[in-house]
Amino acid sequence: MADRADRADKLQRYRGKRDPARTPEPFGEPRPRSDGDGDTFVIHEHHARSLHWDLRLAREGVLASWAIPKGLPEDPKVNHLAVHTEDHPMEYAAFHGEIPRGEYGGGTMTIWDSGTYETEKWSDREVKVVLHGERASGRFVLFQTDGKNWMIHRMDPPTRDPFPDVEPAEPVERSRPPRDVERYAFEFAWGGERVLVPVQGGRTTVRGLDRLARSFGSRTAVLDGEMVTLSGAGIFVCYDLLYLDGRSLVGEPYEDRRARLEELRIAGARWQTAPSWRGEFQAVRQAAREQGLPGVVGKRLDAPYGEGWIFVPA
Ligand code: MN
Repeated sequence: MADRADRADKLQRYRGKRDPARTPEPFGEPRPRSDGDGDTFVIHEHHARSLHWDLRLAREGVLASWAIPKGLPEDPKVNHLAVHTEDHPMEYAAFHGEIPRGEYGGGTMTIWDSGTYETEKWSDREVKVVLHGERASGRFVLFQTDGKNWMIHRMDPPTRDPFPDVEPAEPVERSRPPRDVERYAFEFAWGGERVLVPVQGGRTTVRGLDRLARSFGSRTAVLDGEMVTLSGAGIFVCYDLLYLDGRSLVGEPYEDRRARLEELRIAGARWQTAPSWRGEFQAVRQAAREQGLPGVVGKRLDAPYGEGWIFVPA
């Protein structure tokens, strides 16, 4: 059916949006139609003006493509928008790199995952596939809702923990430090506004932290910390991690949560990881006094979230 002219036609929209002199993106010809399925899929993470993920399924010599602003849904109860975009040449499955600013799709394109897929159904309005990738696996259905707007629905049960449903942990006030200071890590009490920050699909519901959330890409996390004012500027000071990459950490010892938090290297003009000192009470209290902070918070190293926090006034 698909003769050469038909196939060339498929990439007309793709070519119309791009200038080969200005973008490193591939400009291959449509490939001859393969024998059908067991085909390649790729998901690009595309840091364009707006972060999104591009799902591409090899089909009839080209890559059928959808832009998914929130990435693949992890929960069958929550469908994600998937905007049907122009077919891409097959060579695009291996493409990653920098599309110059000002060009169509300008920004960084990385390969988030790739693999093979099976087709269970393929019509103009509904595409049902089973993905076999490293990060993306399972059954998904894409269905058209309105023109180029489609939705993507996960058909398998979720593979991740739900976000923890907990209140921010509160320290218990003490007039003096614990006797076993070596079992604690100590931080400043900041006196700011407590906030839990859920991060998913490069986004968060907490105002002012959009760029921080974006830096997480497709990672999921729940951060615990405070909005504080330092030298006149509002800064998010992060000091605990309740969830990371689909797993709840609330039952893990503080020590382990803190180690995972430090690996995230949260450090920027508007957000910081709170400093923490093991077994050092007096020096931290002295520094808190000098900086006019309310006091010291001690966190027991072996305690799960919500337990073993104390506050000693400066
Ligand atoms: Mn894109």
